[in-house]
Amino acid sequence: MTEETIFTKIIKHEIKSDIRYQDEDVIVFADIAPKAKIHLLIVPTKPYPTVNDIPAEEIGIVSKMFLIAQKMAKELNIDESGYRLVINCNEDGGQEVPHLHMHLLGGENLSFNFIT
Ligand code: AMP
Repeated sequence: MTEETIFTKIIKHEIKSDIRYQDEDVIVFADIAPKAKIHLLIVPTKPYPTVNDIPAEEIGIVSKMFLIAQKMAKELNIDESGYRLVINCNEDGGQEVPHLHMHLLGGENLSFNFIT
């Protein structure tokens, strides 16, 4: 649960990133290798490694991640055109960074893009 990842360093501002939002529970920054015109990562500040590791009593963090996704989509004016939210889990899910995060992708039509 306490493994240091690149995201922990971003949260602590130890390495540079394009931060778009931050509060005590969640940070949002631009993905360094965007898979769509808009590609943000919505990341809890608490380093749950995967979806599997969110305790039932802390599941409210997921609601908060969705509320921030709504807010970011509205601010970026893609709420009506549409967007995709993705959470990868472990190896078969394609998760590379073991710190829970939600991808927000949009700004273009993603119908034929299954990759995050
Ligand atoms: P996942 O495959 O779901 O674990 O996604 C991890 C994402 O983190 C990938 O889309 C990477 O491009 C992104 N990523 C890795 N390092 C950084 C970084 N330093 N700043 C922003 N995004 C990053």
